[in-house]
Amino acid sequence: MHAFAYTQPADIDAAVRAGAASPTAQQGASVRFLAGGTTLVDLMKLDVETPATVVDINRLGLDAIDDDDEGGLKIGALVRNSDLARDPRVLRDHAVLSQALLSGASGQLRNMATTAGNLLQRTRCMYFRDVAHPCNKRTPGSGCPAIQGANRMLAVLGTSEHCVATNPSDMNIALAALEATVHIHGTNGARSVAIADFFLPPGDTPHVEHVLAPGDLVTHVRLPAPVPGARSHYLKLRDRASYEFALMSAAVVVAMDGDRIGHVRVAMGGLGTVPWRMREAEALLAGQAPSPALFARAGDAALADARPLSHNGFKPELAGRCLAAALAEVTRP
Ligand SMILES: Cc1cc2nc3c(=O)[nH]c(=O)nc-3n(C[C@H](O)[C@H](O)[C@H](O)COP(=O)(O)OP(=O)(O)OC[C@H]3O[C@@H](n4cnc5c(N)ncnc54)[C@H](O)[C@@H]3O)c2cc1C
Ligand code: SF4
Repeated sequence: MHAFAYTQPADIDAAVRAGAASPTAQQGASVRFLAGGTTLVDLMKLDVETPATVVDINRLGLDAIDDDDEGGLKIGALVRNSDLARDPRVLRDHAVLSQALLSGASGQLRNMATTAGNLLQRTRCMYFRDVAHPCNKRTPGSGCPAIQGANRMLAVLGTSEHCVATNPSDMNIALAALEATVHIHGTNGARSVAIADFFLPPGDTPHVEHVLAPGDLVTHVRLPAPVPGARSHYLKLRDRASYEFALMSAAVVVAMDGDRIGHVRVAMGGLGTVPWRMREAEALLAGQAPSPALFARAGDAALADARPLSHNGFKPELAGRCLAAALAEVTRP
């Protein structure tokens, strides 16, 4: 592990100032915020992340879950994954989020991991995590061995010739289906970004993963008020029953309008380079009576642009089945 400076600011402005200290603080960078540390410290031990300064944000508070005036929930950046998953309001109104969180990692990790840290966890592509290999995301311009190599777990949507890595977070898939908003405090003050616009596809700059600028601190994530009568579900498919990242997952939120589908939001994990909202599927499902044939058509529409790699050609078909099973769960009488 490389030597680094450590600082523990007492307020948000000081944290932002410390985070902005390096002009390259976004990716591959010399300043990093430390939350639970379950991603960052791992990557520092592997020499994948080599920050010159670590800004520990654990004294900032930001650890409450509050109701807001519009019926939504304001989730502090430092709320631990375990606490969020067990919050009675989340369990009652946003079951998909609780299920997604509880499907991830292990009990000990969830006790440390935070909302913002989970949001910003890095890819699990094995080449990214092993500095013996080139990787465009870690070292821009060095190449992408995954395209011809071990890509079974990697993406089929939103890929580029420079990177095919998936966003590994279960929580992010639920947040996409719930249409969460990310709230940020930066050197120019506060702003918010819809989760659909927060992550950036790799294109020819796979090292730039999100819209955060140097010093930008995520302060909280907001969930909008629940849609009346909505049911939600997170279905995760993986190679072993626990302590494993998603091979594929589906987060669905559906409110019926009589015997037809009214409000419907669908996002899937393990398929896209960013948490993947399935708008084509939503358009096909809305206003229709649920049926296996309809769900299959929705899956086909959602995966129409899929570009499988050498070892993940099974993903489009499995995705259709995963989506159909999740939709059946929330639409059955
Ligand atoms: C063995 C193992 C298994 C796992 N399995 C799963 C799984 O199945 N599913 C899953 O979804 N995840 C899984 N994870 C990942 C885990 O969920 C993440 O490591 C965790 O959520 C990260 O949260 P953290 O608070 O520890 O983040 P940290 O490691 O502290 O930070 C992660 C990143 O976020 C940045 N950051 C943190 N807070 C802020 C902030 N407020 N503003 C701006 N930047 C910030 C940090 O600088 C860093 O770049 C697993 C991890 C391990 C080690
Ligand atoms: S898929 Fe992305 S993260 Fe993996 S080796 Fe290629 S560039 Fe690196």
